[in-house]
Amino acid sequence: MSSTEDKKMEAIVLHAVGDLRYEQVSVPEVEPGKVRVRIGFCGVCGSDIPRCFSKGTYSFPTICGHEFAGTVEACGDGVQDFQPGDRVAVFPLLWKDDHAACEQGKYAQSDGYDYLGSRSDGGFTEYVIAPERNLIRVPDNVSLEEAAMTEPAAVALHAVRRANVRLGDSVAVFGLGPIGLMVAQWLKASGAGPILLFDIQPEKLEIARNLGFEHTFDSRDGNVNDIVKQHTDGHGVHVAIEAAGVPPTMLAAIEVVRRSGRVVLLGNPAADVTLPAPLISQAMRREIDMLGVWNSDFSVYSDDDDWRTVLAAMSSGILNLKPLITHRVPLVEGIAALEMMHQQSEFFTKVLIHPEAK
Ligand SMILES: [Zn+2]
Repeated sequence: MSSTEDKKMEAIVLHAVGDLRYEQVSVPEVEPGKVRVRIGFCGVCGSDIPRCFSKGTYSFPTICGHEFAGTVEACGDGVQDFQPGDRVAVFPLLWKDDHAACEQGKYAQSDGYDYLGSRSDGGFTEYVIAPERNLIRVPDNVSLEEAAMTEPAAVALHAVRRANVRLGDSVAVFGLGPIGLMVAQWLKASGAGPILLFDIQPEKLEIARNLGFEHTFDSRDGNVNDIVKQHTDGHGVHVAIEAAGVPPTMLAAIEVVRRSGRVVLLGNPAADVTLPAPLISQAMRREIDMLGVWNSDFSVYSDDDDWRTVLAAMSSGILNLKPLITHRVPLVEGIAALEMMHQQSEFFTKVLIHPEAK
């Protein structure tokens, strides 16, 4: 495999906070037990924006991008179940097998893991190296641009599973970014209802309506708690899912759940939140549960995980993710797209970056 030593690829390389460069780097060498994947599409996660422009990442230089799917291009020694040409999605978390959580497939709950696209090089480029055990096959009728959304769709599913949503549960979702819109689709598939969707961007509410959701609300129009009460016979919702990560929606999520309700913390927090004493008191009296959600479950050894469920749901049509894509951006224009998201200079939901076809 030394033939790749001098081969170059294009990449968006993060050299420091705010210092993104489009440059040529060496195509990474394939290693034993790993494959080289040619990126088809790589989604931009909300977390990539602070990673690139304000918070930074674990080390520099790094190629960001952890939501990707592509085609196996080369296999290292010992790779048995995949071959060049196979279409795959890649679980970006590289676990170490030395933690009890790994035995249950709870890799995101283990310590000291590596991560493609934040701790190691990810998908804003042409090729990525990934362990064979992190690959999952993409069904024939699922496009690579849909498959690139497997990771966020698995996170959304993980949140709905954590909330133990039952048939007929009323649910409020705050924040209709890509993951919020995916959560809404999982809720519908779970038989929840009514599903009350809140955002402050009319375009996002419109996407939700076009996906068939009838209860969509601009949180700034009227009192959120009153709206929820009107749709739940005055009781509040069984489950509130906070997917925006801002103080007003965090407070609203706690306020709108009924007795014994569940509040799911899904959105990455953008700021500190102050809980008013009366709200804490209400939360106590109503005996609400607050559930943290992190990442998703991926299992090498069983079918019972979030990733396989996502790809099966894409294949069957339960998940309809194409309407979430607002931008398909060639790699060479990727930095401009990241800056657009940072500045919020255009409306966007899911932005996908792709190398030019070769
Ligand atoms: Zn992400």
